[in-house]
Amino acid sequence: MVIAGSRRQGLPHTCVLLAALWIGTQSTVGEDAATHWYRGNLHTHSLWSDGNDFPEMITDWYVQNGYHFLGISDHNILQRGEKWMPLDAIQRRGGDPDLTRYRARFGDAWVETRERDGKVEVRLKRLEEYRTLFEKPGQFLLLEAEEITDSFQRYPIHVNANNLQEYIRPQGGGSVREVMANNLRAILEQGRRTGRPILGHVNHPNYGFAITAEDMAAVHEERFFEVYNGHPSVRHQGDAQHPSVERLWDISNTLRMLEHKQPPLYGLATDDSHNYFSRFNSPGCGWVWVRAARLEADEIIQAIFRGDFYASSGVKLADIRFDEKEGIFQITIDAEEGVTYQTEFIGTLKSVDLSSEPVLDENQQPIHATRKYSSEIGKVLATVQGPVAIYRMTGEELYVRAVVTSSKEHPNPSFTNQKEQAWVQPVVWRKAGEAASGN
Ligand SMILES: [Zn+2]
Ligand SMILES: [Zn+2]
Repeated sequence: MVIAGSRRQGLPHTCVLLAALWIGTQSTVGEDAATHWYRGNLHTHSLWSDGNDFPEMITDWYVQNGYHFLGISDHNILQRGEKWMPLDAIQRRGGDPDLTRYRARFGDAWVETRERDGKVEVRLKRLEEYRTLFEKPGQFLLLEAEEITDSFQRYPIHVNANNLQEYIRPQGGGSVREVMANNLRAILEQGRRTGRPILGHVNHPNYGFAITAEDMAAVHEERFFEVYNGHPSVRHQGDAQHPSVERLWDISNTLRMLEHKQPPLYGLATDDSHNYFSRFNSPGCGWVWVRAARLEADEIIQAIFRGDFYASSGVKLADIRFDEKEGIFQITIDAEEGVTYQTEFIGTLKSVDLSSEPVLDENQQPIHATRKYSSEIGKVLATVQGPVAIYRMTGEELYVRAVVTSSKEHPNPSFTNQKEQAWVQPVVWRKAGEAASGN
């Protein structure tokens, strides 16, 4: 393949503004349709479930730190109805021990307490009560969200729903795949019934090593997952028996496209923050930048559906272009002074060998883990240094995605030696005249 240097040259004006394109199932986005980038976190926890701060304090943090939208996704609950929290429970979680910070920010009149059985309790505000304090057209938006928290046997299976209109209870099922599919189907069903776009995404597949690449390939309802989750316990890098989350992405996309005839998955980055009083599992780890016409809930979710977004743990991009006519994939980094950037274009060729072997335990029995595949799956097709990275498709690629890694240390790392990164969604390209039905 031919890789151009770090200059934006020779690109036709007819470039389609697209973060990703799945030919035949996605419409293209014209240059005039979507012109703004909005930053948001779609996975967070508050006192409504197992987080340790009030949702309005958490929202305030995101407003103050340059975000445009937020979904506080508590476990199996919406921020509706009446909920009181004992103060000692908040203290045990390492939260505001005497509500000092909370009162200082919102005033004594905002904070409601009562005494029950000799214990002081504080009432948690509903989303509808506090959203008007923060929402401003074009500047900040709150999405109603839930982390549908389910499991199969000992495997945790968590699915986030953003822009939800009604509570969804965990759906259960007879296998990891069935639990995933049932919960994603419940989200799809609510979207169809309410006429609203609702984003369902599979959370932290390596948490408890619950979800394998084969599971992610087989569940056709899945279209989005977390390629990066800032919780330090989610095994982002895998271990000796389990692939990293990024490799999981490549294996599942390869299997999806070649065996299941499904589009590749798109990856999100999220915080999954629970803790707002010390460093561990605090916010500011990972987010998405979404290119949309307006900062409105349905617009943001529709843009994500189109794949017009990228995941970030710090690297900011100025532009992502995929020229579907010429097969030119171009990433322009919003480079910081004194920071260097390396972009890897990663993909699988159509000719790849899909043979695999199970991972065995000490008794030579297969364990619940992604099988071992050829290193030709998700291989680095090209590496580009500098603020502009271009990849010219040869037509041999099943898909190509990009990951940009900065020379800068992540300020709030969730694993050792973590650098700031951006993950760009996979693109699929066929030469002119090539049948659109094949893979
Ligand atoms: Zn979770
Ligand atoms: Zn979570």
